Amino acid sequence: MLLDRRGRALGTLRLSVTDRCNLRCTYCMPEAHYTWLEKPHLLSFEELTRVVRLLRAQGLEKVRITGGEPLLRQELPKLVGMLQQAGMEQLALTSNGVLLEKQAAALQAAGLERLTVSLDSIRPEVFTRLAQRAELQTVLSGLRSVSQMGFQELKLDTVVVRGVNDADLVELTRFAGSIGAEIRFIEYMDVGGATRWQPDLVVSQEEILAQLRTGFGSAEPLAGRGSAPAQRFRLGNGQVVGVVASVTHPFCGDCDRLRLTADGQLLLCLYAKTGLDLRGLLRGGADDRQVSDRLVEFWSQRQDQGAVDRTRVGQRSGYVSLEELRANPRLEMHTRGG
Ligand code: SAM
Ligand code: SF4
Repeated sequence: MLLDRRGRALGTLRLSVTDRCNLRCTYCMPEAHYTWLEKPHLLSFEELTRVVRLLRAQGLEKVRITGGEPLLRQELPKLVGMLQQAGMEQLALTSNGVLLEKQAAALQAAGLERLTVSLDSIRPEVFTRLAQRAELQTVLSGLRSVSQMGFQELKLDTVVVRGVNDADLVELTRFAGSIGAEIRFIEYMDVGGATRWQPDLVVSQEEILAQLRTGFGSAEPLAGRGSAPAQRFRLGNGQVVGVVASVTHPFCGDCDRLRLTADGQLLLCLYAKTGLDLRGLLRGGADDRQVSDRLVEFWSQRQDQGAVDRTRVGQRSGYVSLEELRANPRLEMHTRGG
């Protein structure tokens, strides 16, 4: 087991495979123009698989493929198959669902069993206001098809923004139940990219639960959270939901996550401003032993607890300025994978 300086074991890798996206969610990509990663700089499937294989030998248990929108990466099922062959049993994917209907069968055939789809509303006008693209029906039809395909795990993720979709939680929970998915409500975070973030737009875990108790009678916490970002609750109707309270109840003390940007920068925290240039190491001819030693050293010196540190900031507003984001796209949420 590989431990960091706070005694946290490496467990999960969030693997961003592209920074491109076909939606423009206002809490993630609110700007009209972006600086994109250069295509030749993206890690190849072989490079990604090599990193995963070396981390697997250090105790890595789970890989979550993300982006940007991961389904925009060409031949993604091929990567899923390669990661499986590298011994990664727990493989998950987070997608906005727009391309799901076309790709779900190939992903499942390649071995993907865990799927999380972001869905912020089932009211067309609210969905479009948040995503800045009128794609609700495409996402819903993708979701209905995957709900029939027998995935081992199907989850929905909803970022709750005050005054936009905060009246939709009961309706979204019922929808999740109807397709056999577990829904998780996420507090709006002041991460890089969230240039429109304001403290009063955050709907807290307490407010989320109050609404669910009104709708379903009760919401009782479940034990056994481990290093999962969501605290799970059982509702009065028996359904289980999660709340990711990164702003009001940060869970850095249990965080087991390492992140890799699509162009090979390894990050120890969602809020980290710098990371390890893994692409340079991989393309510079380092052998497996050298890469592995560097990975071990990197995790071992980790002290990051970005969300906890943010709670100590007095007048809290956006985390990084637009100028900083333009100069360094790796600070963007859509580049580091959420
Ligand atoms: N495009 C895919 C999607 O939307 O599911 C994967 C990448 S997205 C960056 C991963 C997750 O980050 C999504 O669930 C999204 O809702 C979440 N996210 C993005 N910006 C956020 C913010 N400011 N606060 C909280 N969650 C955020
Ligand atoms: Fe795209 Fe996902 Fe960001 Fe929305 S949250 S803009 S779908 S990367």
